[in-house]
Amino acid sequence: MKKQLALLRELQRIDLQFDELEAQKSEIQQKLEENRGFLEKLIDDLDRQKQEFEDVRNLRRQKKADIEEVRESLAASQEKLKSIGSQKEFNAVEVEIEVFKKKLEQTQEEAIHLDEVIETVETSVEEKEEKIVQLREGIAAEVAEGEQQLADIDDVLEKRRNRQEAARSEVQKHVLRKYDFIRSRRPGLAVVAAKNGHCEGCYMALPPQQFIEIQRGDTFDICPSCQRILYYWEEAKGEEGEAPVDEAAEAS
Ligand SMILES: [Zn+2]
Repeated sequence: MKKQLALLRELQRIDLQFDELEAQKSEIQQKLEENRGFLEKLIDDLDRQKQEFEDVRNLRRQKKADIEEVRESLAASQEKLKSIGSQKEFNAVEVEIEVFKKKLEQTQEEAIHLDEVIETVETSVEEKEEKIVQLREGIAAEVAEGEQQLADIDDVLEKRRNRQEAARSEVQKHVLRKYDFIRSRRPGLAVVAAKNGHCEGCYMALPPQQFIEIQRGDTFDICPSCQRILYYWEEAKGEEGEAPVDEAAEAS
């Protein structure tokens, strides 16, 4: 069983590296998603502003037509004034002219205001378009970099998969099943040390008889508390990355 547990520790080291690389991958993927989302939001924002801009321009065109119309009415009234006989009618047309003049003035003021709005919005739209171009380039560069990182990680994973397969093939089926089951239930360590009479995975005391068995290394032992596979800590001495309990395992 000592040999089996050593193999299992080897497998666990490989699997933990896999976990770490997979976590790095999802972090990169998430960042890329966020960037894409941010750019989309900016583009939506710009589209909305362009639509508003179009509405203002339509309104400005309408004002221009209004001005023409009032001018024509004013000219017609002034023309009418020349051929009027009675004073009463003359006064009425003069009032009419005053009204048209006021309306013309007012409409012209509105048109000037719209011109100002158009100028401001135009600048803002241009700035936004420029910003989007820059962002798009920046994000494209980040996407390229992120994808390269993902590809690199996949390469490393691919290379380590052979080692993983080799380790798995040497572990007895029932041991492997238990190991896979524990890992499927929670991330982190599935094989932990038993030291000074307690489990290093959950720090609960082990039954003394079980601890003695674990020291002998002939049996396959599971912690009664956290259900992890146990080995005697001295067996792992000198192994690469000797089984420190990681925080993920501790927290679960
Ligand atoms: Zn335990």
